[in-house]
Amino acid sequence: MSRSSIRTQVDLQPFHTLACPSIAEYAVTLTDDSVLDSALTWAKEQGMAVQVIGEGSNIVPLDYVPGLTMINRLSGVRLVGQTNEHIDVRVSGGVSWHWLVLFCSAQGWYGLENLALIPGTVGAAPVQNIGAYGVELCDVFLQLEAVDIHTGTRRTFNSADCQFGYRASVFKGKDAGRWIITAVTLRLSRFFQPNLSYGPLATLQPKTSAQLIQSVIEVRQSKLPNPALIPNAGSFFTNPIIQLEQAQALQQDYPALPLYPTADGKHAKVAAGWLIEQAGLRGAYAPDTGIGPYEKQALVLINPQRMAASLVMSRAQEIADAVHAKFGIAITPEPRFFP
Ligand code: FAD
Ligand code: NAP
Repeated sequence: MSRSSIRTQVDLQPFHTLACPSIAEYAVTLTDDSVLDSALTWAKEQGMAVQVIGEGSNIVPLDYVPGLTMINRLSGVRLVGQTNEHIDVRVSGGVSWHWLVLFCSAQGWYGLENLALIPGTVGAAPVQNIGAYGVELCDVFLQLEAVDIHTGTRRTFNSADCQFGYRASVFKGKDAGRWIITAVTLRLSRFFQPNLSYGPLATLQPKTSAQLIQSVIEVRQSKLPNPALIPNAGSFFTNPIIQLEQAQALQQDYPALPLYPTADGKHAKVAAGWLIEQAGLRGAYAPDTGIGPYEKQALVLINPQRMAASLVMSRAQEIADAVHAKFGIAITPEPRFFP
């Protein structure tokens, strides 16, 4: 890597979907492993913090991001194993997730259909164990490769190592900010067995993987704002998981409250978008900033006037406070405040 690959005072606004003004002290685009290794060495020599982004679809970057920001564009897809039933495919971390969904479907490798149109990179997918319509990354995950930001050591993680949970993993929990995920290996099926358990997909009868992908794209486009036109970071709050008794007591007062009991039988997931809507905030865009819960899906906070992270955060806090005041439930942001 030549030293000139590292740029300084880099405008991050085009590199994330919420469009907050943000400047990185230094930034480098990871195009291959040698760039990654040299950039880590350089940052260590400078005693500088390092952080990584993919497509910036789940971050709220602050006005100034000190240290070296790595923009992951590591590319490559390789078949690494197969049987009569399955295909193991190793994908570099900088590959576009939605591109991968289309590519695998076209090869006859199935299992990713419900995860179509999720923005972002493959390397970020394990970070919050991306999920949609009843399918999560962990359902098709085999292993990943990562580099320790502090030591440069490479390590392979299996599923148990990743500690996947609901929109959670070790990379968002105790090891947040420690690893750069360079590749992910998925185990896909040779047989198309659609998962239509979620309401919006329940009436479909897809004959092919491509048909199901098309339906998922249409459902998503009908209610989610396209970040290229209306800046947003997807669901701004994670659906809260609360004690089942608390949830059932709330349902007495609000019979329409959408509750989804968890596998342990002791808790229930509550739809945070519904709570925000019932707090009267769907489409409530702040007059001075335009920031607010999207009119077609209240869980998505939009930032149409490309305002600063601090304003997004304070609007998010107002929304969380209003939900807490009405229902006594705490909702917490899903995206990472960056760095
Ligand atoms: P970034 O936003 O760049 O980074 C997110 C976090 O991961 C940061 O903490 C970053 O440091 C870390 N990170 C990024 N790359 C790496 C890496 N290689 N190694 C280690 N850490 C890394 N999410 C869902 O789960 N389901 C959905 O259906 C969904 N729909 C969305 C719809 C819209 C319109 C938008 C804007 C977002 C949606 N999201 C959804 C959230 C987002 O798409 C995912 O979280 C996605 O995986 C983020 O990928 P990214 O490359 O943009 O990550
Ligand atoms: P939706 O269909 O309006 O459903 C609202 C909420 O109810 C969802 O959050 C979902 O939980 C939950 N839900 C619905 N049916 C369920 C079922 N059968 N079992 C368990 N939970 C159920 O949601 P949406 O906003 O249009 O999103 C559709 C899917 O895309 C969801 O899975 C959502 O997570 C995903 N998505 C995620 C993001 C993000 O940024 N994280 C953004 C857009 C869409 P879950 O969220 O747990 O699935």
